[in-house]
Amino acid sequence: MDYLLRYRELVEEIKAYTYVSNIIGWDSETEAPRNAHGLRGKMMAHISKELFLRSTSKEYIECVETLYKRKSRLDALTKREITLAKKDLDKITKIPQEEFVAYQVLLSDTQLIWEDAKHNNDFASFQPNLAKIIEFQKKFITYYGTDKEAYDVLLDDFEEGMSMKEYDRFFETLKTDLVPFVKDLLAKVKNEPTPFTTENFDVKKQEEFSQYLLDVFAFDRDSGLLKKSVHPFTWNTSPKDVRLTTRYLPDMVFSSIFATIHELGHALYEQQIDDSLTLTGLAGGASMGIHESQSRMYENIFGRSEAFWARHLPKLKKTFPKQLKNVSLEQMVKAANQVEASLIRVEADELTYPLHIMVRYDLERMLFSNQLTVEELPQKWNDLIEAYLGIRPKNDSEGVLQDVHWSAGLFGYFPTYALGSAYAAQIYHTMKQELNVDDLLRKGKIKKINEWVKKKIHRYGKSKTAGELLLLVTKEPFNPQYYVDYLKEKYTKIFLG
Ligand code: ZN
Repeated sequence: MDYLLRYRELVEEIKAYTYVSNIIGWDSETEAPRNAHGLRGKMMAHISKELFLRSTSKEYIECVETLYKRKSRLDALTKREITLAKKDLDKITKIPQEEFVAYQVLLSDTQLIWEDAKHNNDFASFQPNLAKIIEFQKKFITYYGTDKEAYDVLLDDFEEGMSMKEYDRFFETLKTDLVPFVKDLLAKVKNEPTPFTTENFDVKKQEEFSQYLLDVFAFDRDSGLLKKSVHPFTWNTSPKDVRLTTRYLPDMVFSSIFATIHELGHALYEQQIDDSLTLTGLAGGASMGIHESQSRMYENIFGRSEAFWARHLPKLKKTFPKQLKNVSLEQMVKAANQVEASLIRVEADELTYPLHIMVRYDLERMLFSNQLTVEELPQKWNDLIEAYLGIRPKNDSEGVLQDVHWSAGLFGYFPTYALGSAYAAQIYHTMKQELNVDDLLRKGKIKKINEWVKKKIHRYGKSKTAGELLLLVTKEPFNPQYYVDYLKEKYTKIFLG
């Protein structure tokens, strides 16, 4: 039997089910009427079951295992693909089925419990389920038969090749170098006025401006589209079908602008992946960290820059003449980069954001090395927020209960958010040596930047790891110093210069 040929056929079938469930997922987030959810849930259960059965079928496992054993004879791309497939398979097949099912049920129950707990500011009602989720995860890791520490396994799940060793170094750099800088800056910018962004901005006009941004960033409209949803996201089936969403809030015009640019960073990445990878296991972005590096680079480094607004503020003023008549470029840049100590991660600015992630990293690290119990979590959360940001949550809803991730069993995920920004700064450092980025932004030649990231990063899809990409692009392994330097330079110039 030609295992590789059969493997390819099976992967294509699995992808067909993924395709269907993704299209339905997209539809449910953007278009579907409210009452569609009943039948949709029922139909989706069948699709999900079929998807699970096919991706764990005897034949599929046999193909992957056989090819994995013969991997030295495979070409480099196929070898990488099979290694990833084997890793995914191990995660499912090494766990006894009844425990896997029990865990899925637990997660599904916990969703509502967490929502209620957050709503009612009642951590105690969420605590037993959270403890059970963590116990399951620790147990699952023992099934993998690895000699790695539990939290290292989780970190590697979300960002291949990363472990506490690298993250400790990363967050230590932030603690010693960034935290004091942020404290200093926060004290100095306390009274910066930014009134114009919270006036009433017509939602239709905001939509018009987001559509304008799609063209500014040379998004290929024949291979994608923009809609609105409650939480902005990017979704795709292939480089030929990449869809992004944003949201329009009347009193927060920046919310739609920067969500659109952020998602455009994700979307351009997906559009620029080499077509030949589409039906393979190497489709999609290299890693969560690299994906986030692209969205953060477009949003924060390009989208919030003076060079960018030098070109596009006139258009924004034309769209909102009444609200923005007297706004200068300097005011615009200050407003777009406003810094504030805040309690809610998703509303945090570029500068304080990594400190929110640091809190979560510290806590997860302690939970998985048995240095912290779930019961102690809320108190420790508040202590760390206070240590890094100088403010303290008044209740658990704006503290430990704010994020959905832990209730969904996603431990090891948060650090990739901060890592993405740090990758972005390192990549940008190299980009600036090869391109006059400010000049391109000022002249509206973003295509040149897109071409650069396509050639250096996007086209490879998953065929290279994050570490390999960084080395290839920047000639250096991950180095968090670029990130701290970038932040200090930028915010000094805007607010202290
Ligand atoms: Zn993102």
